[in-house]
Amino acid sequence: MSNVTRDLGMDRPIARRDFLNGVAIGIAGASLAFSQTTDSANYPPLRTGLRGEYPASVTELDRIRQGAYSKFPVAASDIHEEYDLVIVGGGISGLSAAYFYRTALGPNEKILVLDNHDDFGGHAKRNEFHYQGRTYIGFGGTMGIETPFPYSYAAKQLVKDLGVDVSRNAEFLNHDLEEKYDLRGATFFDKEHFGEDRLVTGNPRRPEYFAKAPLSDAARRDLIRLHGKNPDYMAGKSVEEKRAALKTMSYQDYLVNVAKISPQALPFFLGEGGRNNKRVDTMPALEAAEHGQAGFNGLGLNMQDQFNEGSYLFHFPDGNASIARLLVSRLIPGAIPGQQSMDTIVQAGVAYEKLDEPNSATRIRLSSPVCCVQHDGDPDHSSGVRVAYLNGGKSYAIRARHCILACWNAMIPSLMPEIPERQKEALAYPVKVPMMYTNVLVKRWTAARKLGVSTVSAPGMYHSRLNLDPGTTPGGYRGMTTPEEPILIHLVRNPNKPGLPRKEQNRIGQQELLSMTFADFELKIRQQLGRVLGPGGFDPAEDIAAITVNRWPHGYAYTYDTLADPDVPPEQRPHVIGRQRFGRVTIANADAGAAAFTNQAMDEANRAVQELLVLQGLT
Ligand SMILES: Cc1cc2nc3c(=O)[nH]c(=O)nc-3n(C[C@H](O)[C@H](O)[C@H](O)COP(=O)(O)OP(=O)(O)OC[C@H]3O[C@@H](n4cnc5c(N)ncnc54)[C@H](O)[C@@H]3O)c2cc1C
Repeated sequence: MSNVTRDLGMDRPIARRDFLNGVAIGIAGASLAFSQTTDSANYPPLRTGLRGEYPASVTELDRIRQGAYSKFPVAASDIHEEYDLVIVGGGISGLSAAYFYRTALGPNEKILVLDNHDDFGGHAKRNEFHYQGRTYIGFGGTMGIETPFPYSYAAKQLVKDLGVDVSRNAEFLNHDLEEKYDLRGATFFDKEHFGEDRLVTGNPRRPEYFAKAPLSDAARRDLIRLHGKNPDYMAGKSVEEKRAALKTMSYQDYLVNVAKISPQALPFFLGEGGRNNKRVDTMPALEAAEHGQAGFNGLGLNMQDQFNEGSYLFHFPDGNASIARLLVSRLIPGAIPGQQSMDTIVQAGVAYEKLDEPNSATRIRLSSPVCCVQHDGDPDHSSGVRVAYLNGGKSYAIRARHCILACWNAMIPSLMPEIPERQKEALAYPVKVPMMYTNVLVKRWTAARKLGVSTVSAPGMYHSRLNLDPGTTPGGYRGMTTPEEPILIHLVRNPNKPGLPRKEQNRIGQQELLSMTFADFELKIRQQLGRVLGPGGFDPAEDIAAITVNRWPHGYAYTYDTLADPDVPPEQRPHVIGRQRFGRVTIANADAGAAAFTNQAMDEANRAVQELLVLQGLT
């Protein structure tokens, strides 16, 4: 180990756990004082190190994709269990499907949910840390109820049934960082892109902000011009002509070719993400305009029709993991007893050993990737579906009257080679967006306090954003501390490869996340925190107590855009062709709605269940 990595604390004992092929190769460091009786052996949210799609959870998925199980791995005579419904995927969509099915047909229906992870919830994952007698909770994926598309009646009703009243959101937000400690947003200009490392606080809409930034005179002039009152850069065109042109050019092309900023100003936009993590070079300029990004306010575009994303919001400290937990409490009351609601779920215990009990009508079986789904005979006349899955290195088979695939669309052709070719092609069309949400438990945040920052965007750095996470307070949870005490810092990375088509960038980003080790990520985290917060006294070697990296190579569902996808009628979109019922199998999950949101995951679950009810003549 070099002096540099040692100075960053790479040799320090922290809470980390790397899994290699399912085997733990390191355990929580001696510096951790766990106060609760739960530990990471029986409580997955406490597992630290490389989480999200941790290595052991995806090894078999890769093999399944490569066709290793194209032949059913178990003989029909080996079938050991029978269900009314088997659901592949235990994310919000799979859990919602179980809920809708039970609600329609009653609690005695035998339902099994299979998921490849050691925790339920899919992207909706909770990260928990026990340190010096306190519990700190963060979100490892899906952050909250928030959507550009209004929640449907079914999704709103589900949220309500789960005891969540979104109108109370403001009650639980913690504004202490801004109000009590006067911390603000800032941008970190890095030396690789801007010539020197400098943290600049303030509002980019004001000229004095750019005056403080390390920029050439030309770049500074352009950024001030762009963030102020703009002239009409497309004068002479009608609004329709402007919109049509903006649809087919990237935001980057708009900035350089239409607004005529100098290339030296472009790095400022590097970390900027549009919807679905599109970047400056992959985001259509019209979308950037609709998001209120810099450079468009003189064009006279009418943006009044936009749905207000702030109108239906709720954020639990563990994100929508609390929604997943509420679903589980309704499906398997023994695992999370009591009438749980938004006021109790955050601090409720989960008995993981009760998720898969033989006497329970609904069961959730974790660490069980499904490798094959096949009708008994002709799909149109078959009486059931066989499902094979892997667990602990062995293959198992079960039979179900019906099956819902609530996993990822691109996975389905490998699981069910019998699906018609056109449908398989459509299912394989999307490329999920790679993402990484990291939670770092730091022992104190005096450095952030001294620098006056709570959120830092870092356009050129490995993590494009980091923020102190004070936690929200439903059920009395308190993550907020004084600066001398621990807090979680949340870091975000969206790997991409500028210049390539969007799907290609997604694929390269997936590979990046899948090929890196926890130590690789840890080094980058320590380096970045050291550079950004070091001037305030942060010491990466001394101040880090624990790290949980949630990598999501298969993150957001793919959404279409006017630059990368053909403009076809809605019924010809790949997700619509792909999600058709096939025999006794229907398809849920957010990909089936081509929208990366919880309400979509719920709506697709609802549709998949309705299709099965129609099939049974029950509507
Ligand atoms: C980092 C991140 C942040 C997000 N933030 C938000 C947010 O704030 N708000 C919002 O509305 N949405 C957010 N989303 C979008 C999120 O994808 C959806 O909200 C929703 O959680 C998707 O649920 P799902 O069940 O469709 O998919 P998933 O959560 O992906 O669940 C599918 C499950 O199926 C499993 N699976 C796949 N193949 C197999 C197999 N062969 N066998 C068994 N299991 C399998 C997967 O591993 C996964 O566990 C976020 C997503 C990510 C990645």
